[in-house]
Order: sequence, then structure tokens, then C-alpha cells
Amino acid sequence: MQPTNMELNELIQYIQKMKKHRGFDGTNIEQEMVLFTEEVGELAHEVWRGVKNGGITEENRRDLAYEVVDCLIFLLSIANMAGIDDIEKYMREKEAINTRRFD
Ligand SMILES: [Mg+2]
Repeated sequence: MQPTNMELNELIQYIQKMKKHRGFDGTNIEQEMVLFTEEVGELAHEVWRGVKNGGITEENRRDLAYEVVDCLIFLLSIANMAGIDDIEKYMREKEAINTRRFD
């Protein structure tokens, strides 16, 4: 049932190269964690904006998606900084554990 090709490892490699190209590769994992937390706050703001206005609008959905992307970038960057270059392997392992636990 699990997808066989998630391509998350390619995203990790892209993020690593993109950070270096843009000069954002000078952070350490602690700083990256703080930046990730900021992005989670921005995502929460967009979710709350949708809830507060009675539902997610098309504009709200785009802004919310941008914050999901920001979170994903920092999340995978943290994984990369921790030396995780095959997150897909861990995804399969953890989902196997979750499947045994919840299915
Ligand atoms: Mg953001």
C-alpha cells in the first residue's frame, strides 16, 4: 500500500544545493530548528485565517500551501544537517511500524 517512489531524497539534495546557491548554508541545526518553528507558526497563522473566515478560500489555500512548502524545506534541511540522506528508507521503516500499530 505504501508508495514506492516518494522522491524525498531528491528534494533533500535540491534543498542542500539551493541553500548553498542562495548563501543560506551558514546555519547550524539549532538555528535551522528555530527557523522551522517560525515557519510552523506561519502555517498555523494561515490555518487559523481559514478557520476564522469560515473556510479555506482559494487565496488562503495558496498562502497555506506556501507555508507548507516552507515547513517542508526546513524539515528536510534539518534531516540533511543530521546526516540523513535516505529519508525514504526511514519513511518506509516508520510507516511499517505505524501500519503494525494502527491497522
Ligand atoms: Mg513562510
